[in-house]
Amino acid sequence: MKGENLELIKTKFLQEFEGAKTSKERRKICKKYLEDELSSVFASLKKLSGKEKAELGKEANNLKELFSSKMTMLKEIKKEKDEWIDVTLPGKKPALGSIHPLTRTQRRCAEILSHMGFVTVEGPELESEWYNFDALNVEQDHPAREMQDTLFIKQKNREKLSPRERLLMRTQTSAVQARYMEKNKPPLKIIVLERVFRNEATDSSHEINFYQLEGLMVEEKLSVANLQAVTKLFFHNFFGSDVDIRFRPSYFPFTEPSFEVDVSCTICKKRGCSACQRTGWLEIMGAGMVHPNVLESAGIDPSQFTGFAFGMGVDRLAMIKYEIDDIRLFYGSDLRFLNQF
Ligand SMILES: [Zn+2]
Repeated sequence: MKGENLELIKTKFLQEFEGAKTSKERRKICKKYLEDELSSVFASLKKLSGKEKAELGKEANNLKELFSSKMTMLKEIKKEKDEWIDVTLPGKKPALGSIHPLTRTQRRCAEILSHMGFVTVEGPELESEWYNFDALNVEQDHPAREMQDTLFIKQKNREKLSPRERLLMRTQTSAVQARYMEKNKPPLKIIVLERVFRNEATDSSHEINFYQLEGLMVEEKLSVANLQAVTKLFFHNFFGSDVDIRFRPSYFPFTEPSFEVDVSCTICKKRGCSACQRTGWLEIMGAGMVHPNVLESAGIDPSQFTGFAFGMGVDRLAMIKYEIDDIRLFYGSDLRFLNQF
């Protein structure tokens, strides 16, 4: 073992170290020199003695320091690299849920109508025959009771009970109107946005439950012109100002006169398509002036007050707005469908 040998190892190390292309290679070189080369150097030092051993020992230690310092430097660089955060990179997007299309539609309806001064009121889903039919001028043997495929509730001695005691799942939100009129005096300006039930076979346009939007206004001197103005304003806000509205005469037991309201087809713009069965119009709403009998059974004097009412399916509104062709999608909880909203 001579001093020149140690000098040679140092030169060789530095050459290899500088020539390495990656820090991984450099770390490998440091490790090789620290472990293999140095252990053979220290082993040969053992054979020496006196001054020579002291001198060469010092140089060997310097060599060890050189390898270690390079190794430490590499570790520091790696640590810095691992800890470094690139603040210019885009952040991770949190997974957010979306609002159900029916809820979205309900909120939009409530928003538009509340700007016109309508207040949202609520009522029970389990209703009495009285509020669902009798108070709304639907007579006992009236076909409307069958027409709406009512889900009646099984009760003991049902036939002996009064209409206020006989229960059913409400078939229309108009039941809430009847309740509200009984407890509140005109002027009234309310909407109901709730679920109703029908005993129906389901298909792409029928469900056993769905949502209705119902509106009622009772005041002195209200006329069909007021109903038309409110209707027009609502649909222009909901679908856009380019939709047309038309009133057709119809029949409902609780209104007189009664109308079916159509909007011009939002898909084909009246040119005719499969959604509107080539007619250019979409049936959307039932409406009319509140029947005097309905006002009377709620304790409101029909000679002093008049009112109008309208009702439509929230599901149908959403189907037209978002061009959805199957009502069952709303209740299927399929995320592939719901994530689109
Ligand atoms: Zn059309």
